[in-house]
Amino acid sequence: MTPDPRTPSDRSTGARIMAVVNQKGGVGKTTTAINLGTALAQRGCHVLLIDLDPQGNASTGLGVDPHARQTSSYDVVAGDAPLIDAVRPSSVERLDIVPATVDLSGADVELVSDPDRARRLQQALDTAPLSHDIVLIDCPPSLNLLTLNAMAAADSVIVPLQCEFFALEGLSQLLSTIRRVQSRLNPDLRIHGIVLTMFDRRNRLSAQVEEDVRSTLGEVVYQTVIPRNVRLSEAPSHAMPALLYDRDCAGSRAYRSLASEVLSRDGTTLAA
Ligand code: ADP
Ligand code: MG
Repeated sequence: MTPDPRTPSDRSTGARIMAVVNQKGGVGKTTTAINLGTALAQRGCHVLLIDLDPQGNASTGLGVDPHARQTSSYDVVAGDAPLIDAVRPSSVERLDIVPATVDLSGADVELVSDPDRARRLQQALDTAPLSHDIVLIDCPPSLNLLTLNAMAAADSVIVPLQCEFFALEGLSQLLSTIRRVQSRLNPDLRIHGIVLTMFDRRNRLSAQVEEDVRSTLGEVVYQTVIPRNVRLSEAPSHAMPALLYDRDCAGSRAYRSLASEVLSRDGTTLAA
């Protein structure tokens, strides 16, 4: 049975909801969520970043003190708190965050007997009185229940793809999961775009990977490519996005360009 399409009017928030997804770890999901979120906020959007990874890297990278995580994404998914109670300001103006704690790692097991377990976040977002324009969800490196919750709640997914030899490996599994989510949970889910990350212009392999990915996947791949840039990896240890740590570095420039592309692509998303 195909579930009824949801429309934004079913929700109390008019925000566009995008999940940053890839079941591989270390491909740039969190870096993208933080810096794309910051770039969108700097363009005047009111952004909410939901940290749905038990590692809580997005929360730490945005300077949310562990003591300020009393109400977290775990409480929201577990149904212990309304989403609005978990929203915290971050170190970035107009960028709020729902922080994560390690409690989240138990959610899969705890929710196993709930038939609606994949819709917990969707239900929380549908009823949350949010004033944000954009919600970004930073997913864990797995196609687990948390990622399913993110995809069930989202309008679209953004997929970071690392420029490495096996870049396309695993993508078919991700695409088939998206199709499964479309048929069972969220028929309106779209792929907003695929963003190539950690591009190394001194390495011929990166250019080769870009060419292969573009010829295989076509225009769903954003024009913007995120370079390998040490400033992007240093920024989280200063508890701030690269866009604040070094606004003119190549990584910051790339994420500003990605933000422009994400905004201009709205409404022209491709079907999965
Ligand atoms: P994921 O969330 O997919 O696991 P991260 O965003 O945490 O991936 O990135 C993995 C590691 O690579 C982190 O240490 C991060 O700082 C670093 N990193 C991410 N993107 C870049 C980049 N474009 N250039 C250099 N380092 C990066
Ligand atoms: Mg991450």
